[in-house]
Amino acid sequence: MAEPERHAAPALQDFARQGAVYDGLMKTLREGTFVHAYLISGMEGVGKRSLAQAMGQYLLCTGADKPCGVCPGCIQVREGNHPDVTVVRPEKSIQVETIREVIRKAGEHTYVGGRRIIRIEQAEKMTPAAQNCLLKTLEEPVEGTVFLLITEAPGLLLPTIISRCRALKLHPWPDDVVMAALKRQQVNDIRAQEALHVSGGSIGRALSVAADEAYWQRRDEVMHDFFALEGRSQILQVSNKWKDKRDQSDALLDDIEDMIHTLMLVRLGQRDRSAVQGYPPPWQRMAADGDTAAFVQLMDAVREARQLRGNQVTWQAVVEKLLLRLMEEKNRWSM
Ligand SMILES: [Zn+2]
Repeated sequence: MAEPERHAAPALQDFARQGAVYDGLMKTLREGTFVHAYLISGMEGVGKRSLAQAMGQYLLCTGADKPCGVCPGCIQVREGNHPDVTVVRPEKSIQVETIREVIRKAGEHTYVGGRRIIRIEQAEKMTPAAQNCLLKTLEEPVEGTVFLLITEAPGLLLPTIISRCRALKLHPWPDDVVMAALKRQQVNDIRAQEALHVSGGSIGRALSVAADEAYWQRRDEVMHDFFALEGRSQILQVSNKWKDKRDQSDALLDDIEDMIHTLMLVRLGQRDRSAVQGYPPPWQRMAADGDTAAFVQLMDAVREARQLRGNQVTWQAVVEKLLLRLMEEKNRWSM
């Protein structure tokens, strides 16, 4: 299911930083040489649905300066109730009956007169029969009907479907674009830096991480338990707590490794200093002046912990060893 829009939907020009993909698309739209089927691909959260929405608005706009944003066509596309837009959104799979129904519709007169948009989300979920059925229509296009196929996994589509569509492959966004999107949502600096880091260039993922309270709660807990240790007396206390959470050991070790990695990236100048604002002061000093070798040793300690965790008893011992190692490093940077 589509998430409700909590902010203004991106317009076509917001895709300008996609470079050649955008330039090529705009050229065909302006010249009226667009094709009857597009395959919009790219990672989760990169903006595939938003692009399809913006294209729909452009193609169904009845204003002079497209997309005008104020004509009935623009407004109906934006509100998701344009009579000439059909959206297929699968639950589990897209059956051949669904595609037959869509194609039948494509043969009818449009309501507004002119174009019809058929948008198929998660197109890879079409069954082979559904794909073959769609293929026939793509081979003999219906005048005025534009298919927008959206997928994260184009490899699951028949090669014949792919070759009948013009590819619009969205790339991961540059850092400044993701950061600007986070700032527009008033995400604070520490969260924004972290969300940017884990986003991999997906604006959707960055925004959802920034707003994921459970994620931040877990990070806070790991920060408190593993990076803010004050003395040896706390080691047993913390290891006791985490020995019962062995089922979460993967996530825990991933988090610790990621947090050490962040410190190292700041040291190497590959991430902004603000990324470690939430770390206790000794770690911030390490991020400013630490030896690369020290970071590598900490990463090795996490890797070793991952290898060593065997049964319940050793897991607690593994946690204690890691805690001790982290505390030693922290003490080195305490004043
Ligand atoms: Zn318009």
